[in-house]
Amino acid sequence: MKKIILLTLFFALILCISTVNAVEVKVNFGTLSLPTTPIIHNDRTLVPLRPLAEIFGAEVDWNSSGIVTIDYKDNEIILPINAKQAIVNNKIIELDSGAILYNGYTMVPLKFLSDYFDVEVEWYDEDRIVNILIEDEKIIKKVEEVSRSYGRSSIYKGYKVVIDAGHGGNETGAYYNGIAEKNINISIAKYVEELLKKYDIAVYMTRKNDVTTTLAARTDLANKVKADLFVSIHSNAIVGKPNIKGTELLYKDNYLLKKGVTNKILANNLQKSVVKSAGTFDKGLINRTNLFVLNHANMPAALVEVGYMTNETELKKLNSDSFRKKVAEGIVDGILKTLDIMIDNE
Ligand SMILES: [Zn+2]
Repeated sequence: MKKIILLTLFFALILCISTVNAVEVKVNFGTLSLPTTPIIHNDRTLVPLRPLAEIFGAEVDWNSSGIVTIDYKDNEIILPINAKQAIVNNKIIELDSGAILYNGYTMVPLKFLSDYFDVEVEWYDEDRIVNILIEDEKIIKKVEEVSRSYGRSSIYKGYKVVIDAGHGGNETGAYYNGIAEKNINISIAKYVEELLKKYDIAVYMTRKNDVTTTLAARTDLANKVKADLFVSIHSNAIVGKPNIKGTELLYKDNYLLKKGVTNKILANNLQKSVVKSAGTFDKGLINRTNLFVLNHANMPAALVEVGYMTNETELKKLNSDSFRKKVAEGIVDGILKTLDIMIDNE
């Protein structure tokens, strides 16, 4: 019985979803990038709920039986998928067109937006444009932010970045208070990998787990795949100087330009964004001419020394997941800024 219902539903959806006469959704007549295109369903324009919730700061909860709960301001909206009714503040409301699942996204009618997110929605039939009018400056900022995060994924497509987690296997790197540098480095590297992939960037890891890896193997990989950038991640230590702390960026000063980027530009972008994101002390850039990986990578390369394991406070941070994530976000931001330069010089 269940199968028949599902099957009927399936055909019903195929019949009435149309992307042929594509609709463009704009905000104040500006572009709004969404993770999936709007669709027409029962003559209504449906848009993905997730980015809209992000923009308006609504809380959305998806449960396993296909019921979406939205908390926005004082309203609680319960929206079952494929139903023409919703429950708003305990009252049943009839909908012309309900929420449906499409491409893995919960799609809601734009009408819903004007009803419950108190925004005005205009429809321009001739150009097939839906324009959402927003006056609140804060929400306009959020629109730009969300739109950029969905829109910019594609501009980095085709770019290759090598992430090199320092040491590994037999080589622990620095070792203090039972904490091995190699483990800090790989943990940050994995967060970086995860974030970069969201931007459609091809990420190559010189090691994915705790294995011994030669320095030559690391740069060989980068040169073989013709990576655009090489970023090595390490944690620092200086015996007998427990007060020294902060982030340093090692690079080799030369004038080799690749698509508008030098080693120093990469190092500078990484330094600024890591310090900003992780809140570390800014120890600046250091020109190093004797580091194997910086000497053998054929593309802009830099080595992040995240913080000092010999500083008690910094070691505690380096050992925490939340700090590692912030560092990773900073590294990713620095990489994106650098790729932006390369894209402009392409
Ligand atoms: Zn190291």
